[in-house]
Amino acid sequence: MLRNLIVAIDGPVGSGKSTLARRVAELLGYLYIDTGAMYRSVALKALRRGISLEAQEHLTSLAAETRIDLRAQDGTQQVFLDGEDVTAAIRTPEVAQAASKVAVVPGVRRVLVAEQRRAGERGGVVMEGRDIGSVVFPDAQLKIFLTASPEIRAERRWHEHQQKGDGIDLTRTLEEIHERDRRDRERSASPLVRAHDAIVVDSTAMEPEEVARLVLLLVNERGG
Ligand code: C5P
Repeated sequence: MLRNLIVAIDGPVGSGKSTLARRVAELLGYLYIDTGAMYRSVALKALRRGISLEAQEHLTSLAAETRIDLRAQDGTQQVFLDGEDVTAAIRTPEVAQAASKVAVVPGVRRVLVAEQRRAGERGGVVMEGRDIGSVVFPDAQLKIFLTASPEIRAERRWHEHQQKGDGIDLTRTLEEIHERDRRDRERSASPLVRAHDAIVVDSTAMEPEEVARLVLLLVNERGG
């Protein structure tokens, strides 16, 4: 019998998590949840209000009074922050850096993790982030830890920026992803770690579709 599994996908910046999670969700008819979009939304709100990214209590209450809706539309995900469509606004390098600072705050994580659990508890979901397999759903039936070489990850991120017309160069992109990865790994609240039972997939030399097919096989193996 087919089961509605929880598929957790974690990994560093540019490892291909979003592409993979979106595609696997599409192939399985599962819900796709991008938790990074939630940290980015809180960061955008803080930036707009001029709140210091070090003001932990203020950021925690800000997160608690924020409504974030992730809506699936035509194979893409739209992000609404307190009712406003911020899908494009949260994808700037500035918001990415701010999100990685906001994500260090334990109170912010508590609020967002509770929302993520509510959104995924019924299963039939592919959730991507940094702590999905380790903290949000430690009992997820399938955990993938996706990696790729830093150079490839920077190149992918740089291409995304190019397509949007952001004039950021490759060296700066590489520095930026190193900075975010370091902050994610070194923070004390839910750092980026591989859950002991996660399957490591290195996407450096793989096409996105190959990675998706591999994950699909693993889902099938688990009855999903
Ligand atoms: O995945 P994305 O780059 O959109 O995430 C933005 C930032 O949010 C990351 O740099 C990371 O610091 C943080 N994040 C997190 N935990 C998650 C998802 C994202 O700390 N589950």
